[in-house]
This record gives sequence, structure tokens and C-alpha cells, in this order.
Amino acid sequence: MGEKSFKYVILGGGVSAGYAAREFAKHGVKPGELAVISKEAVAPYERPALSKAYLFPESPARLPGFHTCVGSGGERLLPDWYKVKGIELILSTEIVKVDLAGKTLVSGTGESFKFQILIIATGSTVVRLSDFGVKGADAKNIFYLREIDDADKLNDAIKAKKNGKAVIVGGGYIGLELGAALRINNLDVTMVYPEPWCMPRLFTSDIAAFYEGYYANKGVKIVKGTVAVGFTSDSNGEVKEVHLKDGTVLEADIVVVGVGGRPLTSLFKGQVEEEKGGVKTDTFFKTSVPDVYAVGDVATFPLKLYNENRRVEHVDHARKSAEQAVKAIKASEEGKTVEVYDYLPFFYSRSFDLSWQFYGDNVGETVLFGDNNPTSPKPKFGTYWIKDGKVVGAFLEAGTPEENQAIAKVAKLQPPVQSLDQLAKEGLSFASKI
Ligand code: FAD
Repeated sequence: MGEKSFKYVILGGGVSAGYAAREFAKHGVKPGELAVISKEAVAPYERPALSKAYLFPESPARLPGFHTCVGSGGERLLPDWYKVKGIELILSTEIVKVDLAGKTLVSGTGESFKFQILIIATGSTVVRLSDFGVKGADAKNIFYLREIDDADKLNDAIKAKKNGKAVIVGGGYIGLELGAALRINNLDVTMVYPEPWCMPRLFTSDIAAFYEGYYANKGVKIVKGTVAVGFTSDSNGEVKEVHLKDGTVLEADIVVVGVGGRPLTSLFKGQVEEEKGGVKTDTFFKTSVPDVYAVGDVATFPLKLYNENRRVEHVDHARKSAEQAVKAIKASEEGKTVEVYDYLPFFYSRSFDLSWQFYGDNVGETVLFGDNNPTSPKPKFGTYWIKDGKVVGAFLEAGTPEENQAIAKVAKLQPPVQSLDQLAKEGLSFASKI
């Protein structure tokens, strides 16, 4: 089998890879110096689109519309862009063996790729119900969503099961976005999750009550406090029923499972230092192995603002960490260094005609402000998180770009608060005046 050699290799072809490639191009790479190796068949794209506009019944988003870096208002890097820049896009190629010290990657078909500098950008994979031995979880029409192929299969099923019944297992990001997407496609949707409210890792019960109420008004049924323990299928092997732990049986033509992700680090096990489930890096996204960097979902990096190492599975960090790593690589070649990565956590989601943003840390006491009544004609509300007398996190539904910037500023500057009651009264104007 063949062997190819590159100065720089990006392993993975997702969000980080696209932003890293653009950053390399900005600094100048010679033709043939850089390769992006991806098991996906398409050039890097903005992954969040898959659970949103990609599933719209009318004018859905399709490639090449959402290749990176359009998600942050940047240039759309079409496959031709890589060609023009002399960047080799090695697609439909899964790396199955890695020798970090020997600087070699080997693909499933036995091809070898040598690198001088590697950026690990393998992202995450979904947690599967079959991983927990849930009975019948391999039935047809039970879907997970990570890559564009998954989204295409789901879209085909949505068309094939018009007006059918869908069960969403999981009440996190994917569950909420997919619940909405399937409802918009006119499926009869039931969501199931074990927690007392949706998105419990971020949402307070007040925030969640709004979304749950809003979804209910849209006709989405929500079953909380129980889990799917088994599936039955028909003679074609297609899922027919979802069995819940509390004994309920739900009919289903389509099941979408969104029960979490897992960073793809197994290829590197034992070869590189890990922490908190990810590959440990410094502020330049350098790992414990010389010339090996890790960015995006897989990296556990020093989050300066909180003086703590964290892993962040969000698109904004995927973009920024990729840029930081490439800047650091390029600077070190000139004997220079770059500033430390001073990241402010930023998460967002969109579903139905809702849109929220969150900045900072969701720790400490909380204060709700605004109108979170799901039946209001124009609900708009938010929440501050307060720790040690300072605002450390802020959430806003239906914010304008300026308002979102204001809550970001609050989370970054962490202004002191005297009284929580006063903060609740001031609401958004507290952020706007900072
Ligand atoms: P990815 O974008 O996942 O890219 C990893 C790439 O590596 C993939 O192309 C994969 O095929 C490839 N790969 C992995 N292993 C190998 C291998 N062995 N060989 C070759 N290639 C390999 N975040 C938000 O902040 N807001 C959102 O609204 C949001 N929506 C999302 C919706 C969906 C459906 C999903 C799945 C994620 C969403 N996220 C969202 C999270 C965000 O997309 C991720 O944090 C981001 O994509 C991480 O970028 P990454 O480059 O680390 O990984």
C-alpha cells in the first residue's frame, strides 16, 4: 500500500478541520504541505446545521451551502478552495491506526500517512443505546445524528414515514432540536428523558419550563422521569414500539436517540496524556507528545477564565481552538509565541422560532428575568448565574445581536451584584449598561 508524507496533517474533517485549514491558508502553506484526512465523504462543514435547517421540510440547507467557515460569517471553503490552495483533502478515509511517536497514521485500506506536525480533530461520536445493551436497539429507523450521512438517512425516513409517529430519546440539545425538526415535518412527536426537566446540565427548572411549555403548545408530548429500555420491530425489522422503564409502550415509526457524545480519543490511548475524557493540551493546544496538537471536542485545555482544565463540545470552541493551534504552530516556526487562549464559553441553540444563547459558567445562584410564559405572543427572558457575589453566566432567549453581546460581556467581566432582587428587577438592562 502507498505512503504519503505531509508537513502538516489534520486528522478529522469537521468544524475544527475547516477552520484550521483556513488559518493555515491565511499564514501561507505551500502546495502539498497540508492534508486533511476525514472519514466523511465531504469537505468540512458547519455541523450544527444537521439538526436544524438540514431537516427543514421547505428549502432545507444542503451542501455546498454550509461548508465551513460560513457559520461564523466567514468565507465558504468549497472543495475547489482546498485544491487552489494546494491543500490535500483526503476524504472517505478512516484512520484506524496511529503511531504518534513514529509520526504515522494508517487508514482502513492500509494506506500510510506520515506527518511532521499533527492536529487531532476527530471530534465526538454518539453514545448508542446498544452500548448499554438496550434490547432491540439495532432495529431499522432508530437514528443517531452526528454526520451528514446520518442526517440523510433521517431525512429519507421522515419522507417515508409521512405523518407518522416519532419518539425522541433524550432531552439534551439533540433531543430538543430534533423534536422540533420532526414536529415541523408534521410527525407526531413524543420526547422521553429521565431527568426532571430538559437540558438539565445547563437549564434551570424555570428555563426548562418555558421550552417544555412551548414544545407542548406545538403538539410535542413529553414523558419525563423514565427511559427507553427496549424496542420491538415489525417483520421488516423496522422499529414499531418503544418500551419505557415505567411500563409505558409508545408506538413509533421513527426513533431518534440523542443521549450524549463521547470524544474520539481511542486511537491515541496510551500514547498521549488524557484528562477529563479528552486529550490534555496546553493553552496552545499542544499535547504531551511533541508536534502533536488536539483541538475541538477532543481537547481538554486550560480554561483561563475559570483557572481549570475543561473539555468543551461546542462549535464556537471548535473554531477558535483550531485557529489558536495553527497560529501557535506558525508562530513557533518563527521562534515566536502567541497569546494564551482566553476562552469565554458560548453555547447556543435554535428550534421552532426560538433561539437562545448562553455565555460563561452555569454555577452558583440563579436569577430569572423577563417573560418566560410560553403562551406569550413574544416571550423574551433570561437568567444570570451568580457566584461569590459576581455574575458568572448569562442566558438569553430571543436576544438581539446587541443584547447577546451585552450578556457575553457580563459573563466575561463578571461584575459584582449587591442584591439578587435588584438584579431580577433590572433584568437585561443590567447587562446592557455594563
Ligand atoms: P467534528 O466537527 O465532529 O469533526 C470530527 C471529524 O473527524 C469528522 O469529520 C469525523 O468523521 C472525523 N473523524 C473522526 N475519527 C476519524 C478517523 N479515525 N479517521 C478519519 N476521520 C475521522 N454546538 C453548538 O455550539 N451549537 C449547536 O447548535 C450545535 N449543534 C450541533 C448539532 C449536531 C447534530 C451535532 C452533531 C453537534 C452540534 N454541536 C453544536 C456541536 C459541534 O458541532 C461540535 O462541537 C463541533 O462539530 C466539534 O468540532 P470538531 O472538529 O471537534 O469535531
